[in-house]
Order: sequence, then C-alpha cells, then structure tokens
Amino acid sequence: MERQAWLRKIPKTDDVLHQIKTIDDMQTFNEDFIKAEVRQVLQELREAILTGEYSEDHPQNLSIQQIIKSVQERCQQISALQLRRVINGTGVVLHTNLGRAPLGNYVKEALWDVAQGYSNLEMNLTTGKRGSRYDHMKEILLRLTGAEDVLVVNNNAGAVLLVLSAIAKGKEVIISRGELVEIGGSFRVPEVMEQSGATLIEVGATNKTYVRDYEKAVTEHTGALLKVHQSNFKIVGFTQEASVEELVSLAHSHDLPLINDLGSGLLIDLEVDGFPAEPTVQQAIEAGSDVVTFSGDKLLGGAQAGIIAGKREWIRLIEKHPLTRALRVDKLTLCALEATLVQYLDPIQAKKHIPALKMMTESVQNLQQRAKDLYDQLQSVNNDDSGIQIDIIPGSSQVGGGSYPTVQMESRLIRFSSSLENIPRLERFLRSQSPAIVGRIQDNALLLDLRTIFQQDYNDICQAFLAWITLQNQE
Ligand SMILES: *Cc1c(COP(=O)(O)O)cnc(C)c1O
Repeated sequence: MERQAWLRKIPKTDDVLHQIKTIDDMQTFNEDFIKAEVRQVLQELREAILTGEYSEDHPQNLSIQQIIKSVQERCQQISALQLRRVINGTGVVLHTNLGRAPLGNYVKEALWDVAQGYSNLEMNLTTGKRGSRYDHMKEILLRLTGAEDVLVVNNNAGAVLLVLSAIAKGKEVIISRGELVEIGGSFRVPEVMEQSGATLIEVGATNKTYVRDYEKAVTEHTGALLKVHQSNFKIVGFTQEASVEELVSLAHSHDLPLINDLGSGLLIDLEVDGFPAEPTVQQAIEAGSDVVTFSGDKLLGGAQAGIIAGKREWIRLIEKHPLTRALRVDKLTLCALEATLVQYLDPIQAKKHIPALKMMTESVQNLQQRAKDLYDQLQSVNNDDSGIQIDIIPGSSQVGGGSYPTVQMESRLIRFSSSLENIPRLERFLRSQSPAIVGRIQDNALLLDLRTIFQQDYNDICQAFLAWITLQNQE
C-alpha cells in the first residue's frame, strides 16, 4: 500500500517543532501557537494522503523542510494584520471597497491622542459632570450646516433608519417613485422603511413627480414626507421632481416634517471647480428641511458616520429613540470627523487639505506632472528583459461612493503593457504586495490612475515593480 508508506513518512510533531525552534524568525511566536499550526499542517497532509489527493508529483511535501516552510508561512500569515493599506490606482476617489474617504494628516495626532489614553468623551470638563458624546461636534456642525441641532450616528443608512423609526413608525411616509433608491450593500429605501415600521406611500412616476402627487397622498395617517437624493444615478430627459421648498411648504401646511436624505454630505460648493450642481447640506437646511441626513465619509471626506441635522424639536425626539444607543458612534470616529470638520471653517483650505476634495479638484496639469514623476521612477527600475512597456496615457477618474455618478474627471494614468501576456500576473502580484496596489486592467494593459495615488505611494509602487522584475529574472 503506497498510502500506508506515505503515512509512515510523515514526520513527528515533536521533530518538526524541535527544528522550528532553532529558526530565528520563529522566535517571536508563542510555542503553543506554533505547535497548533504544525499539527494542522501534518493533519492536512494525512488527509490528502487518505483521500488520494496526495501524489508522487509532490514528494517534497513530506520533507521536514517543506513542512517547516508551510508552518512558517501560516504563522506569519495569521499574525499579520489582515486589514491593511492599499494604494488606490483605480481613480475612484470614494471607493467603497477600498474604505471610501481617506483621512488627512490633521487627523493623525488628534486620533492617537484620544485613542491611546482617556478622553472627555462623556464628561463636561467645565462642570465636571456627565456630558454627552454628541456635544463635541455640535457647535461646529451647527455653524457649518446652519441647522438648529445635530446628532451623529454610526452611518447614514443607520441615520435614515433611526429618523424614520423615531418620526414615522406606524405612520405613512410619502416618497416619489423616482427616489426608491438602492444605495449598494443592499440598502434599499423601501426595505429600510419597512424595518422602521413606517408604511411607504409611493407617488408619481419614475421620471416625473409633481408636488400635487404628494398632496393627493396626504391623509390623517401621514407621518412625514421623504425626499431621497438620487445620489448614485441620474434620470435624464423628460423629468420632473418637486423641489425641497415646495415639499417643505406642503409638509408644513399639514404639520408634517420633511425628511431629506442627501446621501453625500457636500458642505462646500464645487460648481466653481467644474462639477454639476449638487445640493449642499446648507442649502437643504436653508430650504426648510426639518431633518437632513448625510454620510461622514462620502463627499464630506471624513470618517464613516451618519449625520442628522435639522430642527431642534425633531432632533430631540430622534435622540431619545432607543435605536440612537444601538447606532452609537465611537470616540475614534468622533475624533476623526471633528478634525475633518474643523478644516471646513476655511473652505479654500478644506479643498487643499481634505484628501477626497483635493483629489477631486486636482488639475490635469498637476496630474500630468505627477504621472511624469512616477513614470521616471518606474523607468529607472524597469529593464529591457521585463517585456513591460510603460506609458502615460489620458483617461478619466470617477468620484465614486454614489456621488456625482455622471461625472468623468480628466486624468493621467500610468499604463503597463506587455507582449508577453503577463499583465494579469503583474496585476495579481501588485495586489498581493504590502501595501497592496490595486489598478484596473483594460485592453490587456494595467492602468494606475494618478488622481487617487498619493505622492508618498510612489516609492512603494516602484519597490513592488522592482520586486516583480527581480522575480521575472529568476524564473
Ligand atoms: C450612501 C447613501 C446612504 C447610506 O449612507 P452610508 O453612510 O453608506 O450608510 C443613504 N442614502 C443615500 C441617498 C446615500 O447616497
């Protein structure tokens, strides 16, 4: 029996352990941890032999060296942090899969200061009495939004659920058919509505809804009118929607609130930078919305959070709802968000310092220059044998995160192409590095968009590319 012979060849746990202990790199690991991994590797070998998966082709798997190598890799992999930095070469500024808005330098010190010790999270340092975690950002948010009161929760999906639960549970909420949005990650307005206990009343048609459509639907059971900003799509052509002012006026004539879910929390006008008109939070408040909800990590460019701003009576009511506690925002988020909001006190500075806004407003000239810098660095490590050709090409980047869906920002990209058909392998290799480098493949070439690549990423990109070249030369 071949299988029996192989089974007998599997080394003993103690023999493997004994040898591993002499390896320098393994000294940092706890002995029980290593032992468990050795057992696991040996067990997997045994199973492979018994199921017949193990074959003569891989006899080295039974060698003690090979087993030690597997154990070493496993120990390193498990102990390495799995959530790690990625260099975003996709050109999508608010890339939801890559963590949406990157935070600026201004957050660094504040965050560590609060994180490494204690903070006044829920203590009023003037009175020495208990305070509220929601108070810290109140002043600055009121100033920036023009609202009477604010509340910050874990994310905007949570904010919408909370607002509907607190205001409209057991009542009807009227919304246009053109605004029954799915945001992604299966957040659908109708489903959130159902969760909140409010009943959805759809009015109008997909492309056209008039204020009179809402008016006809108002009954004694109505709890609120809801406007949802069509953030991630656009209806073009023969369209009509009721303005916030019209809806406010209708809602107030029936003593109802207008809830306005903006999605992206745009705090400064970007029309001067060539972006299409997009309602800012201030405009939504000024137009009379009773409750406005928006994300902290979309166009606002801060940490993941849901911000609820509006009239004091409604915010007070919302704050008292038990869901507020369940959606409670943590101190690290509050800290990062506050440090971001402070930047907005000077809008010019905000565009310079908040990474998302800086990327969105970067000029093509600048991108061209940065592409040239990265290109030069890459060329200095590239060689003729690599088969890789590097060019700078024009292309376009997107805002992402369900914001400005139709906007294409002119950009400059680094293109890696090759006659050797090894581009998919290059792409996989760069993605497996630390930091990982994520680009996109198009027409057999790998593209890295400069708009979402920071200057401090260049070195890591060149190091990774050099590692790839070195690996090719070895093969
Ligand atoms: C993005 C978005 C949400 C969800 O916000 P999160 O911060 O991702 O939870 C809700 N409503 C609209 C209109 C959005 O665009």
